[in-house]
Amino acid sequence: MQNYDIESQPSCNDELNSDLLTVDEARARILDAVNMIRDTHTAALRDALGQVLAADVVSPIDVPAYTNSAMDGYAVRAADLPGEGTRTFLVAGTSWAGRPYIGPIGPGEAVRIMTGGMMPEGMDSVVMQEQVEIDADNNSVRIGTGHSAGQNVRAAGEDVEAGQTVLSAGRRLTAADIGMLASLGLGKVSIYRKPRVAFFSTGDELRAVGEPLCPGEIYDSNRYSIYGLLKKQDVEIIDLGVVRDEPGLIEAAFREAAARADVVLTSGGVSVGEADFVKDTLEKIGTLSFWKIAMKPGRPVTFGHIDKAVFFGLPGNPVSVMVTYFQFVWPALVKMSGETAVPAVYTVRAVTTTALKKRPGRYEFQRGYLQQTGPGEFSVRSVGAQGSGILRSMSEANCFILLVPDQTRVEAGNEVLVQPFQNLL
Ligand code: AMP
Ligand code: MG
Repeated sequence: MQNYDIESQPSCNDELNSDLLTVDEARARILDAVNMIRDTHTAALRDALGQVLAADVVSPIDVPAYTNSAMDGYAVRAADLPGEGTRTFLVAGTSWAGRPYIGPIGPGEAVRIMTGGMMPEGMDSVVMQEQVEIDADNNSVRIGTGHSAGQNVRAAGEDVEAGQTVLSAGRRLTAADIGMLASLGLGKVSIYRKPRVAFFSTGDELRAVGEPLCPGEIYDSNRYSIYGLLKKQDVEIIDLGVVRDEPGLIEAAFREAAARADVVLTSGGVSVGEADFVKDTLEKIGTLSFWKIAMKPGRPVTFGHIDKAVFFGLPGNPVSVMVTYFQFVWPALVKMSGETAVPAVYTVRAVTTTALKKRPGRYEFQRGYLQQTGPGEFSVRSVGAQGSGILRSMSEANCFILLVPDQTRVEAGNEVLVQPFQNLL
C-alpha cells in the first residue's frame, strides 16, 4: 500500500490532534484488523473474469504445443540455404494451420507453410513468401541469400513450458489472463468468494427517491453512491434500506447485517448528536475500535466488529461518505477479496490554477479537476464549494487535492499533490 501513504509529515498542531488518528494510522489499523476471505469455489473461465484466483495455475502443456511457422512462406533446412546467389527448392507439399504435412521430404526440398502451420520434421527455418520466386510450374521456388537459421519459427514451449506457474493465487483475472488460461486448455479455475457487504442508511429525515419530500426531509442519496462504489469493487451487495434513528431498530439492523455479511456499512448517525446511535449500538453489541480521524471531509468514522463481521460506520454527509469509503473501505475490501497485488492509488503533482483555502491541523481531501497540460504535466483546479454535503462538486471532480495537516492557504501557481479517482470511484 506504499502509494497510499499520504501523510509525509506529522502535524505541528499537536494539541488539536492529540486524540485524533491520522488517515494513514486509521487505514493501517483497519488493514490490520481485516482478514481475507478464504472460501473458494470453481468457476468457468468467463465467470472468473475480474475475480481473484485462489490457487496457482500451472500449465498442463507447452505453449505453443508444437513448433510452428510465424509467417506464410516456405519451410526449409537452414543447411540447404545458399551462401551466395540463389538456389532452387522443390516444393514437397503444404503444411496448413491445423493440417500438418506428414509426407517425406527429400534433401534440398521445401514445404509450403502457413502461419501457425506445424513445422515439418527436420525443417528449422521459414522464408517469407514475399522473399521467394515461384517457378512457372508452381512446383519449385528460388531462394536467395540473407536468411538466418531458425528465422520465422515459433518453438514449442516458447511462451509457456508445461509445469510452469503462469498465474499466482491472489491475482485478479484480466481479459488477457482468461485468454491465456484458455490457451492452456483450462476451462475452470479456483476463485475466492467475493466479500458480502450489507449496508443501510440511518436517519429520520431520509426519504426514498420517487416519494414526495415533507418539510425537513431529504432524499437518501448515500445508498446510491455507496451502491455505486460497491458495484465498482464487484462485491456481493445486500441493501438493507433506511433505518430510522431508534436504538432498537438500529440494533436489529446491525444484528441482521452482521449475520448475513462479512462487512456491515452504515452511513449517518456517527456524530455526537442526540439522535446518533451508531456508536452506542456498536459498543453494546460489538467492539468499537476508533472513531476520530483528523481529516476533512470524513470525520467521524466508526470502525469495529460485530461478531465476525467488520463494521464501518461512515458519516452521513454525502461527500464524507465517498471520501471515507475511498480511504478506508476500498482498501479493506481489496484485502478481504484476497487480491495480493493491491491496485496502486497513484498521486501526481499538479499546478493549482485556483487558490486553495484550508485550516491547519487536519488532512483535507479537496475536490478538484485534474487536466493534462502537456506530456507528463498537469494542472488542477478546485471544483468550488468544498462543504461535506455538496455532492454536486464531488460529481464534477475527478480527483482529490491532498492537503497535509500543516498546510494552510495554497496560492494559484503552486504545486500540489493530487489523487485521481476517475477509474476507482
Ligand atoms: P448524521 O451523521 O446522521 O448526523 O448526518 C450528517 C448529515 O448527512 C445530515 O445533514 C444528514 O441529513 C445527512 N445524511 C445522512 N444520511 C444521509 C443519506 N443517506 N443521504 C443523504 N444525506 C444524508
Ligand atoms: Mg442522522
